[in-house]
Amino acid sequence: MKPRRAEFLVMGGGIGGLAAALALAREGLRVLVLERAAEFGEVGAGLQVGPNASRMLDRLGVLPAVTRDAFFPRRLLLRDAVTGAPITALETADAFRERFGYRYLVTHRADLHRAVVEACRDTGLVELLPAKRVLEVEPRAGGALVRCADGTRYDTDALVAADGVHSLARGLLVADGPPVDSGYVAYRGTVGVAELVARGGLPEPDGMVIWVGAGRHLVQYPVRRGELCNQVATFDTRAFPTASGENSGKSGTSHTSDIDAQLDRAFQGTCAEVTRGVEMVDRSRRWAMVDRLPAAGWSQGHLTLLGDAAHPMLQYLAQGACQAIEDAVVLADSVSAHPGDVEAAFKTYEAIRFPRTARVQTTARTWGEILHVGGIGATERAALLGQRAADDFEPVDWLYGDPLCPNPAGDIREDVR
Ligand SMILES: Cc1cc2nc3c(=O)[nH]c(=O)nc-3n(C[C@H](O)[C@H](O)[C@H](O)COP(=O)(O)OP(=O)(O)OC[C@H]3O[C@@H](n4cnc5c(N)ncnc54)[C@H](O)[C@@H]3O)c2cc1C
Repeated sequence: MKPRRAEFLVMGGGIGGLAAALALAREGLRVLVLERAAEFGEVGAGLQVGPNASRMLDRLGVLPAVTRDAFFPRRLLLRDAVTGAPITALETADAFRERFGYRYLVTHRADLHRAVVEACRDTGLVELLPAKRVLEVEPRAGGALVRCADGTRYDTDALVAADGVHSLARGLLVADGPPVDSGYVAYRGTVGVAELVARGGLPEPDGMVIWVGAGRHLVQYPVRRGELCNQVATFDTRAFPTASGENSGKSGTSHTSDIDAQLDRAFQGTCAEVTRGVEMVDRSRRWAMVDRLPAAGWSQGHLTLLGDAAHPMLQYLAQGACQAIEDAVVLADSVSAHPGDVEAAFKTYEAIRFPRTARVQTTARTWGEILHVGGIGATERAALLGQRAADDFEPVDWLYGDPLCPNPAGDIREDVR
């Protein structure tokens, strides 16, 4: 059978791939999205969305749908996981919105994903094909040939691989081996806020809390208009190994008592709120925290990478999906600036995105070290961070107010409070 033609083909229907499809469709292009999962969807956990990404979602016309079920925390609090003492705070309400044009928002991943899927469908230009696992990508002059596990083939003029941190397509473009395993794992999921509060958890229903300790931290924030609380418990499997050492730092759904006990051991000795929270963390699955050092060359010929496939990062700045959304807009802008020249468009896209995503990748690593420091380092962290005012936004200006991503509306959105 002859392969099916596709002008633009996006491989991977995660937040990055879908945002790219939507952004390209907003430029009037037809896009085919191939997703390996049986359905388009996201894991049952929360997502922080900084104003840099809200700006892009606004530009894509999907922000009102995203904010419908979102939660707008009034501040981000850093607290000591053992003593419970506040370390520092970042105001994320009015002064923050004045500075960056948008409030900080937190949402359920499935809500954001659904909003983008619906927006893609509404364009009439995006075709979403689930159950299409890409097995092979063959770059060709003027395009690429893609083969799926079900035997179908697609011949495209432009391939955007948004196939995540373990990207198949990346191997064709950047020869930097497997992602770097940080040794940390994370458990994540949502629980009812009422249930958590009843059990002595979540003292900050109005904000986001990061409880930090040596080699471990717990993040908590409300999602779904404040009805659910997202929790992410992260720890260093090298500092807190399993009793047997088996499977200590891997992703998976394995439930041996050895592995379950590892999570509890990692948070032993923390304050009551953290202990309660960790007791209620979703244990059905855990993720190994991997990233890469920045490596250029993700755009070659008619192939490019986007999101985690291009610049996987540790989650400590809560920016992986935000950066993928920024990628999507810059990609579509570059395509529209180079009509009929996919190669130039993809090169321009990478040239714009590389410095910024590289900075976010490396800063996320550093921020991880700051979060997880113990001993005298933790005392110094508390002393240093304790001096800053909650509305001192200068340290995050580069991230939330990057000049490469100006507020397209040029003003403050009144409906995003
Ligand atoms: C614990 C944790 C917390 C995080 N918190 C935040 C946060 O608060 N804010 C934030 O911005 N980011 C956060 N991130 C990062 C964020 O989740 C990722 O950066 C983001 O999901 C990347 O999106 P993506 O579309 O590039 O990749 P993915 O979400 O990985 O999507 C890739 C898609 O491609 C599909 N796929 C893969 N291979 C193939 C194939 N061969 N054929 C077809 N389809 C394929 C997959 O099924 C998937 O749907 C967090 C990450 C972790 C681990």
